[in-house]
Amino acid sequence: MVDQLEEIRRRVDIVEFIGQYLPLKKAGRNFRSVCPFHSDKDPSLMVSPDKQIWHCFGCGAGGDIFGFLMKKEGLEFPEALAQLADRAGVELANRSRDWGMKSKLFTINDLAAKFYEKYITDTATGRQAANYLINRGLTAETIKAFQVGYAPAGWDYFAKFIERRGYTKEDGEKAGLLVRRNQNVMDKFRHRLMFPITNVSGQVVGFTGRVLDAKDQPKYLNSPETPIFNKGRILYGLSITKEEIQKSDAVVLVEGQMDALSSYQAGVKNVVASSGTAFTGEQLETLRRYAETLILALDADSAGSEATKRAIELASAKDLDVKVALLEGYKDPDECAKADPAKWREIVGKAVPIVDFYIDYATKKFGNDSVPAKKKVVAEVLPIVALLDSPVEKDQYIKQLAKSLNINPDNLYEALSRAVSGKGNKLPAKSAKEPVQPVLDRSDWLEKRILGMVVAQPDRLEGITTELVADLLVTKWAKKVYAELKNCYTGGEFSLDNLLAKLDYPDRVILLENLMTVEEYYANMPSSDVDQELRFYVNLLKQKNTRVALAEINRQIVSAEKSGDVAKLQALLEEFNHRF
Ligand SMILES: [Zn+2]
Repeated sequence: MVDQLEEIRRRVDIVEFIGQYLPLKKAGRNFRSVCPFHSDKDPSLMVSPDKQIWHCFGCGAGGDIFGFLMKKEGLEFPEALAQLADRAGVELANRSRDWGMKSKLFTINDLAAKFYEKYITDTATGRQAANYLINRGLTAETIKAFQVGYAPAGWDYFAKFIERRGYTKEDGEKAGLLVRRNQNVMDKFRHRLMFPITNVSGQVVGFTGRVLDAKDQPKYLNSPETPIFNKGRILYGLSITKEEIQKSDAVVLVEGQMDALSSYQAGVKNVVASSGTAFTGEQLETLRRYAETLILALDADSAGSEATKRAIELASAKDLDVKVALLEGYKDPDECAKADPAKWREIVGKAVPIVDFYIDYATKKFGNDSVPAKKKVVAEVLPIVALLDSPVEKDQYIKQLAKSLNINPDNLYEALSRAVSGKGNKLPAKSAKEPVQPVLDRSDWLEKRILGMVVAQPDRLEGITTELVADLLVTKWAKKVYAELKNCYTGGEFSLDNLLAKLDYPDRVILLENLMTVEEYYANMPSSDVDQELRFYVNLLKQKNTRVALAEINRQIVSAEKSGDVAKLQALLEEFNHRF
């Protein structure tokens, strides 16, 4: 596997590869471009041909060719690997044997999208179907942007079409577009508006067919799951809207396809639809790659549902900042966006943090004057508060909730600690799932910068050898790199290649990226100034560690005070005085 990765990296030149996506301009030894991953006017993204690494000085994104393709196209690593292996002409040893079958299914679904699109523009019944959408407020441009088509009313128009293209009826069945009834194989979608569903790369994987005549049932008909169509993974519209999502760093989640189309048309283009299925962790994982803020645009019925709460819980666990767009009396986003596009933009712009929404929602639903009502409100809101990471935020919301219910906040703190420990509550606390890692906001950045500076000029290790000790380092990456660096350095002649050879794949890429950043950053700085800056950073790291240790002892002191453990309190105070 590692050999294959290296072989691909050797054969695919990063400058040439990224140059296909972005206009690269030579700048010294490196190349530069405007970054596609954040709103950027300056050429902050840099590509190094020597290290075969890219890095953006604006948003901090970076990596190798695999990382770039994954981020740009929103792919998983195996998908990026397969694409780049193809490009490099490297045969992957464990490549799945069903690749041939999958690529056939992609082709048939793609043919189908073109077939349905041709029918909507070139036939009389197709144009009637398009008019149905236009009468409901969609424009021809929107219909075209989302490649909406029309499936003709006959039994086997599509079946015959793919046979003429050299595919069998069995192929059509496997692609989910033909169905077998007794001995006959026929078109699954007949006389319906066809909404192609694509994966993040824009390949068509299935369809939703919507009825045109109210008497036809079911109203929505979906492609079945196939080897290329996994309903829990797909988000409707993402391949079309992903750049808008990236740019705005926020994604608006709606329920139906019509909601997505209308929103897009009204100018809120950073939108995706969950298409009726329950929202999954995989979908959130995908969205997380494009944006940090998730704006739920739900109608009032779904807002309080278990499925929504589950989605919020999942989203919080993935560190998405969740907000709610309040529909203000409109039935759904589709209705609002069509009736008043400006209003829709305003509603999304004014989306409120999730806890504010639930406090408001629950007090409206249960009232806030009787004791039982207050209890119900607390039961509804506290589990959401428990999901918050920041103690400051938690505190703020506890006070807010206490005030709106006119109760003593102390009671809520108690209830919250019960909610966090998971007793009597459906939503598990976030901390219960993941052991708390001592992640110290900027430490990660500091450690990378420090190690990058040292690796760029290993002699610098001498100057800081008493200050920079392994215990100061927090992240796994830094611990590993530091240990190997020391080994290589004390082991005689230092060479970067030897150090890189000691590191595993992603660790190596991270180090190279840092090295490139450091070289670029300090290119014109006198060496003595760089040394000074390095000492400054090491000191910063030390101070940070001290502060964290201090906070931890403080926390223990408070808890010892509360429990009245005098002996422990004394020991802690002694330690405190001794250390600080
Ligand atoms: Zn960037």
